[in-house]
Amino acid sequence: MSEEPQSYVSHLESALDGTVLPADKPQTTHRGRPLWVRYHLDAIRAAVGPKTISARPPTMWRYRELLLPGGCEPVSLGETMTPLLDCPRLGRAMGLKKLWIKDESRLPTGSFKARGMAMAMTMARHFGLNRVVAPTAGNAGGALAAYAARAGIECHLFMPADTPEVNRYEASRYGARVYLVDGLITDCAKIARESVEKLGLFDMSTLREPYRLEGKKTMGLELAEQLGWRLPDVILYPTGGGTGLIGMFKAFAELHQLGWLADGAGEGRARLFCCQSSGCDPLVRAFESGQRFAEPAKGVNTIAAGLRVPAAVGDFMVLDAVRGSGGRAMAADEERLVEWMTMVWETEGIALCPEAAVCVGVLKEALRLGHIGPEEEVVLFNTAAGQKYVEVIRTELPLLEGAKAAPWQKA
Ligand SMILES: *Cc1c(COP(=O)(O)O)cnc(C)c1O
Repeated sequence: MSEEPQSYVSHLESALDGTVLPADKPQTTHRGRPLWVRYHLDAIRAAVGPKTISARPPTMWRYRELLLPGGCEPVSLGETMTPLLDCPRLGRAMGLKKLWIKDESRLPTGSFKARGMAMAMTMARHFGLNRVVAPTAGNAGGALAAYAARAGIECHLFMPADTPEVNRYEASRYGARVYLVDGLITDCAKIARESVEKLGLFDMSTLREPYRLEGKKTMGLELAEQLGWRLPDVILYPTGGGTGLIGMFKAFAELHQLGWLADGAGEGRARLFCCQSSGCDPLVRAFESGQRFAEPAKGVNTIAAGLRVPAAVGDFMVLDAVRGSGGRAMAADEERLVEWMTMVWETEGIALCPEAAVCVGVLKEALRLGHIGPEEEVVLFNTAAGQKYVEVIRTELPLLEGAKAAPWQKA
């Protein structure tokens, strides 16, 4: 082997029909559908092992052989490994023996979108791109804007006008050109694609840019490592476009192929639960009716901004992953999201985001229906910091008028 750091990326591959595309230049989609990044896994197995990786600094770049082309320096804001928090009080309340929350709110810009954007921006810089665009329903915009600023790359964002306040302003403060659109994320995506042609921007949309998926894959790699290179029984994931869920499924497949999981190459798998809100549940409907492609949702209505995705380009990849893992797609009652969210803040001190609240609702229902057993090990993903959702967490507080106004001072 040469001194030059080796590249383990072999090629890109259409998720729809397996067409092979070269990895040495920027790619987006094939026939309008996403691409997989493929690696020389045998060469990776020969070069590193779990022990080597576990001795590296605790960031997502410890898995660099499974992410980066050789010699490529990450665009980084310090993507720490996120804690896997044991939740005994919440577990007891749900009737579950072992429940963890993987708290992604610790990442730069307060959401797991940092993983994908750090990776995608690293590749954008690697390929010498200097202007990017994306539609966003919330946290993706803040993350893309931050990493674009970090890399010195121009960033354009199209977001629905009802995107949470913090997401709108953070992106703008990072210097991105933010355009509000009177419509849904799918409308924003349409405008973003036009801007690609008209302004020559590079499309960083989720699952149109292939490396965001690779960044999100690190959630699965990290989770396996934190459990001692094995998988939990069940993973609950709040699903919009589905990149995180697809990424974890890919991570587990690669870990199996590498032989890095403690239970060998075969049995151990985590059942993936795709969790949506009853206010926007196209993947749940497709799952229930046995379809591989989802019908676009109508009348999208949920406080979980990151899940306002009526149509996902990777729908079939989510549904394949859910079915392939023995999991399910389920919807939680939109009306109860604030209640479930608040329950986690109060019982465990974890600032759950409204998106992750759908996982609590699904967990409850899945336990009731016997899709999840009380003895099983369950991991729930908190994909963002609940504090970013000012509109949702806002509450009336008592105002004391002066120092003599405390309740016990009143006659
Ligand atoms: C984007 C987002 C999601 C959905 O993520 P996908 O992987 O695209 O399904 C979930 N939660 C939060 C907080 C998000 O920002």
